[in-house]
Order: sequence, then structure tokens, then C-alpha cells
Amino acid sequence: MTLPTLLAVGTFNDWDVPDMRNGFDLVTIASITDLAGLDAGLRGQVRAVAYKGHKPFDGAQMDLLPALEIIANYGVGYDAIDVVAATARKVRVTNTPDVLNDDVADLAVGMLLSFTRNMAANSAWLARGDWAEKGDPPLARKLSGTRVGIMGLGRIGREIADRLAAFKMEIHYHSRTAKDTPAGWVWHATPESLAASCDYMVVALVGGKATEGYVSASVIAAMGADAVIANISRGSTIDETALLDALENRRIRGAALDVFRVEPALDPRFLALSNVYLQPHQGSATIETRKGMGALQRANIRAHLSGQPLLTPVN
Ligand code: NAP
Repeated sequence: MTLPTLLAVGTFNDWDVPDMRNGFDLVTIASITDLAGLDAGLRGQVRAVAYKGHKPFDGAQMDLLPALEIIANYGVGYDAIDVVAATARKVRVTNTPDVLNDDVADLAVGMLLSFTRNMAANSAWLARGDWAEKGDPPLARKLSGTRVGIMGLGRIGREIADRLAAFKMEIHYHSRTAKDTPAGWVWHATPESLAASCDYMVVALVGGKATEGYVSASVIAAMGADAVIANISRGSTIDETALLDALENRRIRGAALDVFRVEPALDPRFLALSNVYLQPHQGSATIETRKGMGALQRANIRAHLSGQPLLTPVN
């Protein structure tokens, strides 16, 4: 029996590979940009793609895979994949929602605490010997009991809000429609209204064209001078130039960011700032969650190839 050909795009963890060989003829490339270099005969065999990466996967690349039936994305955010082009070619797309909510929410809370309690600077203070030489570092700022605004109360946004409610924070949020929430949570109809109403604003929107620059210059301008912004969504959701201008000119207190418009070569202006806490896109980056994401990705591919309903379809 001929095994279906699975093309794995990206660098997968060691634990993913044996299962990708189990029942599949596995072909691997490090990046979607290597696709055109693959032998045309081999490309013609590919029925499924396990996609891992943030580089655009467009219609022209799909056309290089004439037998393609499914693109299973490793990650909930599928903004790198041209879903319209996939649908036009009758190619199914899946993602990995929910299995990563806890980790991304944990990181958001950790970034807020790290930023506002000066944890990186204080650790460096101790390591340099400043504690013994100069005494205590400068005082930090409080998180518990302040007002947080969640920009996008979706799956991850809700997990962040639930965690911050336990920090006795007043929960404000903006979504396109008001949600069913615990009593006391405040819905804002516009992003500007949310920005004007919170001490800490956490961006948890989907990425992609529809939310490009959703946190616009006017939203950033609406934030208070003492306010802090955090982003665990996609770099594209914030007008990054407006954010950098606000940070450089101290028009807001600071930012805690896991995602950037360009990754990994982020705008060097970020690196010159002292009022930021930066992470290299680590939201879902735990062994446990990455195992769960890989398992769900492959479960979608197996479901499709055996004629079963997809577990987490996008189109
Ligand atoms: P989700 O449940 O789909 O919700 C995201 C939010 O986006 C919802 O509140 C939704 O608003 C809003 N939204 C969607 N389309 C919109 C539009 N056209 N205009 C305005 N708002 C819109 O997504 P999720 O699973 O929580 O994921 C959230 C984000 O986290 C994604 O960007 C994902 O890529 C990112 N992420 C990052 C990491 C990381 O490593 N940092 C890891 C995983 C996920 P409504 O409430 O109005 O529907």
C-alpha cells in the first residue's frame, strides 16, 4: 500500500517526527521558501502539509503542490496561510486552538509582573553585586488591584482576564460585541475607550489583515501617561511605529511584548529602550503545550485522510 505523502514545513521537535513517519511518507523542508527547490515529482505526491512557521504560504506556493488536500497549521494563529487561496483550491486548513491558551495567558501575566516589578533589572542588579554595594534597587510599581483592559476577549483574552481577576484587578475589555462575563467586567465599544480606561492593556486579538494596526496611533494616544501595554497576539495588531514613538517619548510608561511586526529581526529601536520587557515569541513555548499542538496538528491530518470530520477546521 502506498502511504500518503506528508510534507512537514519548518523545524519540528524530535518527539513529533516518529509520529509524522507513522503511516506517512514524510518529506521535510525547513521553510516554505524551500518549496520550489523540491523535486517536482515529489511535490506532486504531497497530499498534506504540516505547517510550522510564520512565513507567508500563498496560492502560488499551493499551486506547486497539485495533489494538496490539507494544510494543518501548528499554532492557533494561521495568519501566515492565505486561507482564501486555500479555499479557492479546495484545500482544507486547520489550526491548534485552545491547547495553548493557558501557556499564552501565563506568559502575559508573567510579562506584566516582570515589567512592572522590574524583575529583569533587579536580577541584573543582584548579579552585578549592586545589592551589596549600593543597597536596594529603585522601587517598582503595583499590578494587583489596578485596572486591566483586554483588547480582544477571545479564547486567550478570556484566560488572561480570569487570571488577572484573581489579582483583584478591575477587568475592562473591548470585543466587537459584549460577552457573557462575570459581573462587574466592563465592555468598551471602541478600542480608544478601552485604552483610556485602564492602567495595563493586554492585546489578545487575532492577527491577519482584518486587525492590522487595530491598536492604532489614536488608540495609543488615548492611553494614559502611566499606562502599560502588553502584546501576546501578533506584531501586526499594533501600529508599531506609533508604539515606538510613544515609548521613546515616554508618552506611556512602558510595554511588555512577546511579538513584533518583524521577527526575529525586530526593529532595533526596541533594543535601545529601558521601558520595555521583551520576549522572543514564547507564548506557547513549553514542552507540554508544544506536544499538544503537534498532536492536534497530526490528528487533523489523520482525520482528513481517513474521511473523518476535522477536529479544528479553519475553512
Ligand atoms: P480568538 O479566540 O479567535 O480571539 C481573538 C480576538 O480577536 C477575539 O476577541 C475577536 O473579537 C478578535 N477579532 C477577530 N477578528 C477581528 C476583527 N476583524 N476585528 C476586531 N477584532 C477581531 O483567538 P485566540 O485563540 O484567543 O488567539 C489570540 C491571538 O493570540 C492570535 O493572534 C494568536 O495568533 C495569538 N497567539 C500568540 C501566541 C504567542 O506565542 N505569543 C501563541 C498563541 C496564539 P470578538 O471577541 O469581537 O470576536
